[in-house]
Amino acid sequence: MSAEPTRAPPILSVRDLTRDFGPFRAVDSVSLDFRAGAITGLIGPNGAGKTTLFNMIAGELPPSAGRVFLHGEDVTGLRPEALFRKGLARTFQIPRPFRRMSVLENVMLVPHGQIGESVLGALFRRGAMAREEARLREKAMDILAFMTLDALADHPAGKISGGQAKLLELARALMGDPSVILLDEPAAGVNPALTRILVERIEALNRRGTSFVIIEHDMDFVMRHCDPVIALAMGRKVFEGTGEEARANPVLLDAYLGSVA
Ligand code: ADP
Ligand code: MG
Repeated sequence: MSAEPTRAPPILSVRDLTRDFGPFRAVDSVSLDFRAGAITGLIGPNGAGKTTLFNMIAGELPPSAGRVFLHGEDVTGLRPEALFRKGLARTFQIPRPFRRMSVLENVMLVPHGQIGESVLGALFRRGAMAREEARLREKAMDILAFMTLDALADHPAGKISGGQAKLLELARALMGDPSVILLDEPAAGVNPALTRILVERIEALNRRGTSFVIIEHDMDFVMRHCDPVIALAMGRKVFEGTGEEARANPVLLDAYLGSVA
């Protein structure tokens, strides 16, 4: 293990990424490299452009300018499903499960292989699809068990708690065996017991090599679990360093985090 971590190629990069909403520039020429194997914290006051940045990276929102690179490949403009298949998953600030479907069905619903679409596949479609369904179900149940949601597998997703819905978001992300996961405020509004489960699972996945980028307002959470920390304000990168450096940076805390509830 002699390789210097800083010299590993970034798992995810953005270059001059920009998004305008009419005359308003929500993200202004942001360039960032996200280190493979890191849990990167993304902080900044409400309206800083954090979610918009995630939306552009994850293919939900086309950039007005700039590029996104995943494993060095230019993936700008690819759809979320295509990025999911390339190993990039994200969760939403406000979980949006299909409320009338079960927790298990929500996990099984994520994009997966294109079984049965080839001409030859059509001949064997029914058997292949049944096998694929069984395999997906097994994988989804394993992931639900990992997230401590297996007892809720058959519950309607609309009936679980807000915290459980956050765990479900991560469970859905894991169906793609992602190499990088973007989490948008995963701990916001989640009780301490579920937050502890969430953090343990994030750290277990990270030890196995999954990289994370986490938007979070809770500075204690960020200090404890994220390194490096990047701050956005008014659409621009205003800080990059360790959590300790962020904490020791009174200007940053006053100017950019003082307003955060
Ligand atoms: P953050 O996640 O850092 O709180 P957002 O990325 O959600 O910030 O928003 C950044 C800015 O862009 C805000 O001023 C917000 O009102 C604006 N914005 C976000 N999405 C849209 C949209 N779809 N249309 C117009 N303005 C938007
Ligand atoms: Mg946001």
